Amino acid sequence: MAFLTHPVLPLLTVNRLSMDFGGIRAIDQLDIRIKPGEIVALIGPNGAGKTTFFNCLTGLYTPTSGELLWTPPNRSGRRLNGLKPHQITEQGLARTFQNIRLFSNMTVLENVMIGRHCRTRATVFGAIFRPSSVMQEEQTTIGTSFALLERVGLANLAHERAGNLPYGAQRRLEIARALATDPLLLLLDEPAAGMNPQEGQDLEALIRSIHSDGVAILLIEHDMQLVMRLADHIFVLDYGRLIAEGTPEAIRNNPAVIKAYLGE
Ligand code: ATP
Repeated sequence: MAFLTHPVLPLLTVNRLSMDFGGIRAIDQLDIRIKPGEIVALIGPNGAGKTTFFNCLTGLYTPTSGELLWTPPNRSGRRLNGLKPHQITEQGLARTFQNIRLFSNMTVLENVMIGRHCRTRATVFGAIFRPSSVMQEEQTTIGTSFALLERVGLANLAHERAGNLPYGAQRRLEIARALATDPLLLLLDEPAAGMNPQEGQDLEALIRSIHSDGVAILLIEHDMQLVMRLADHIFVLDYGRLIAEGTPEAIRNNPAVIKAYLGE
């Protein structure tokens, strides 16, 4: 008997997504699919709409039209439209920001523990009266957060003020905080920006190791060599429209992409 093979359902399906700011259409009828465990890059010239897309996906902006569908393996699918940012995080999407957003007066460890909050159960009552279940949960959170800091190479700075970290380390801390939420899809907005070559190499190894745990990755990045090395599939935006998609090899040689970057 022939075995029936089931096509892998996309983890994320974006249908005809548009986002207007007054008269500006920042995203125009965008269609995107991301499979579980895939590394996908979103590239395009400055102002193409990449960060706006992340903001729509993570509930910071309400899209003008279109649909965001989330279908985790072995779970029923749901629309992400209309969910608040913390509800989207609970679904398994986590992000970092182009302009780093850490709690700079809190410690490195506390920043990661905050990321863990969406997977813990302590209530305000628990936080005040601290029954043993809450104390135990807090110890587990500290252990998990330390392990994540080790993973991104920041364990020795756990008790440092986050704002005191050098730029590249702050970017890695944002990744640790995002990982603390147990994502199925990690959105990285220009993670290599401002990094020196060594930090860039460490970042690439970190992204590969996160991917090898089965986490899908959506990467916005201007470092094309990094994109070409990492991505399974690339989507190219220009003026909010999808102008090309495909493998790194296909994108590298696509005339529309070359024209968008270099002009006529
Ligand atoms: P970059 O590579 O420079 O970060 P990008 O591809 O991420 O660019 P966006 O920041 O998404 O581009 O911007 C897309 C367009 O939407 C730009 O014209 C920008 O000015 C506009 N835009 C983005 N956010 C807003 C906003 N909150 N209000 C008005 N216009 C906005």
